[in-house]
Order: sequence, then structure tokens, then C-alpha cells
Amino acid sequence: MQFIYEPLPYRIVFGAGSIERVPDEVAPIGKRALILSTPEQSADAERLMERLGGLGAGLFAKATMHVPIATVEAAIAQARALDADCTVAIGGGSTTGLAKALSLRAGLPSVVIPTTYAGSEVTPIWGLTENGVKTTGRDPRVLPRVVIYDPDLTLSLPAALSVASGLNAIAHCMEGLYAVDGNPVVSVMAEEGIRTLARALPVIRARPDDREARGEALYGCWLAGMVLGAASVALHHKLCHTLGGSFDMPHAETHTAVLPHAIAYNAPAVPEAMARASRALGGGNPAAALYELATSLGAEMSLARLGMPSDGVEKAARLAVRNPYPNPRPITEEGIAALLARAYAGLPPT
Ligand code: NAD
Repeated sequence: MQFIYEPLPYRIVFGAGSIERVPDEVAPIGKRALILSTPEQSADAERLMERLGGLGAGLFAKATMHVPIATVEAAIAQARALDADCTVAIGGGSTTGLAKALSLRAGLPSVVIPTTYAGSEVTPIWGLTENGVKTTGRDPRVLPRVVIYDPDLTLSLPAALSVASGLNAIAHCMEGLYAVDGNPVVSVMAEEGIRTLARALPVIRARPDDREARGEALYGCWLAGMVLGAASVALHHKLCHTLGGSFDMPHAETHTAVLPHAIAYNAPAVPEAMARASRALGGGNPAAALYELATSLGAEMSLARLGMPSDGVEKAARLAVRNPYPNPRPITEEGIAALLARAYAGLPPT
């Protein structure tokens, strides 16, 4: 056995009601916190400000998707005007993305309180968008000092969004199982993440206010975030990025429709990873089990119905071959076209 594993330096506070700990968690990090949220979650940000008492310097409730540079600059100006020395972000991947940009650009440490299943809070991956072009990178400086996971804050996340986001997290785990730079620790986290999410999502679909299932799902998403932060992605993620970039398709939903097919494609090359996935999914063929899970949750499985044009299959297959990346099974244009044709039609994987 031979591997490299670099555990990331952050503190996790997990559990229902753990938001109450926020003043204790912020105090060692800063004296004046700028609170970040989207406009939709400004009421949450205001409640947080009250909870922080003297540690709250002010609010910046303008976080938005893809971290536009203008938003980052406005937040930095606000932080300087308020003499803030740290940030507390409450929200999903978009708000976490803003906190990361403030760490990168202005050196402000952060406490992040996730309210979705994106998992960004435990990855060193940052993104910034300027003139419509998104730049991404990895830098440990963007990691929050503390992440407070309070499942009660996810109770308001609509069931359909929870399912899409949770299946996206399963995709991170599946590819972590066969990542070129994977290792035994990543595999354990990935298997447990798949198991936990596959168990929790059907309950959340049926009863979005089930607190136990919400806790399980958030735990699974933390694991998925750690897998994404520690290991590289392969065919599945690259295909989804290609489809998103080429045809402006919805992110989490595209992941859901492609995943069973990408796994079916790679399965013959990675028997050990598939044995783990099968265990986590309750037995049987993992690609078929993922398709069944997603359809049982009401997910749309046809790329056509998600907005892919009819000539998209050939175009995406060409792009995938032209742009090589590490994948356990060699990528051929015919193989990718066949995989995408089934996903286009919403058929089960072969
Ligand atoms: P989001 O942060 O854009 O949130 C979507 C909407 O849901 C927002 O209006 C938000 O205010 C609202 N919302 C959040 N929590 C809610 C709750 N509990 N109840 C009701 N509404 C709520 O969406 P997201 O899916 O969390 O994040 C997506 C972004 O995160 C993408 O831009 C993606 O690129 C990024 N991301 C980054 C990484 C990384 O490692 N850097 C990882 C995953 C995702």
C-alpha cells in the first residue's frame, strides 16, 4: 500500500442546535465579524448578527452564484469600512464561495455555517467570475477555520433541491472511490458518504422535516465534501462540466442524469471501487442501483429534457476525447457517445 494523504486543517462542530455555539467559535478567530449571506437569506443573517452580539460588525447580504468579482470587491470595501477582521458565512455554496474569496483576496479568516448540501466548506477549491469567465483554483488559505453544521438549518431546503444536491454529493463520493490520487481514507469516507446519503434522501423526499434524516444527509455531504477536497475527479465530473459549459445545463440535475452511465462505463476497470459502492448502495450493480435511487426520488434522468440539444451527444463526445484527463478506463469517442446517447434518452445504464 502506498499513498499520500494531506488532512485539511479545520474544525468541525456538528449537531442540531450547534448554531448556538457560534459566538464561542468566532471569538478565538476575530473581534468584528462581517456576516455574509444571499439576499434570500438576509433574515438568517440578521438573526445571526443578533446571536453574535458584540462580535458582529455588520451584514453583507449580496452573495450570488459563481462569485462575481464585483461582489467580492464590494464585500471587501464593506469589510474595510466596518473594520471587520473575519467573516461568518451562512448559506450554500455561493455564500461559502464569497467567504473563500475574501480569505484569498483580503486575508479574512472565516467561520462557515452551511445550509445546503454543496460541501464547498471543506474543500480548498475557490472560484471567481470576471467578465463572464470563471477561474478556479486550489489554495488551503480559503478553508474556513471552523464549519458549524446544524442540520436544523437545512429543514427549509426544498425536497427537490435537497435530492438534486444530495445526488450530486453521491457523485463526488463515487468518483472518489476510483480517483487517480485516492487512498484508503478517502475510500472509507466515500463509501460511508454514499451509504448515508442513499439512506437519508428517500426519507427527506417523503418527509422534508425529518430531523434525523436531515442530520444523516448533512453528515453524508460533509464526507462528500472531504472526498472532493482530497481527491481528483474523473470522467463523470468532466462530462458534467462539458455539458454545463457547452449547453448551459443545470448543474446538480445534469450530475444526476449522467452518473449511472459514467459509473457503468468505468465499472469494468475498477472492481474494488464497485464492490465498495455496491455495499454502500445495498447490493447489486452500482450503476443500476444509482439509476433506481434517482428515479425513485423523482429525478429527471433524460439529458434531452434537461435541455441538451439533439446534436449534443456527438459534440460532447468529441470534446471529451479532445481534452484528455486521468480516468480508470480509456476514453473513446464511440464509448462516450454511446454512454451519452442513453443518458440523452433517459434510459437505464447498460
Ligand atoms: P446556492 O448557495 O447558490 O444557494 C441556492 C439558493 O438556495 C440561494 O438562494 C440560497 O440563499 C438558498 N438557500 C440556501 N440554503 C437554504 C435553505 N436551507 N433553505 C432555503 N433556501 C436556502 O446553492 P448551492 O447548491 O449550495 O451552491 C452552489 C454553488 O456552490 C455553485 O456555484 C458551485 O460551483 C459551488 N460549489 C463549490 C464547491 C467548491 O468546492 N468550491 C463545491 C460544491 C459547490
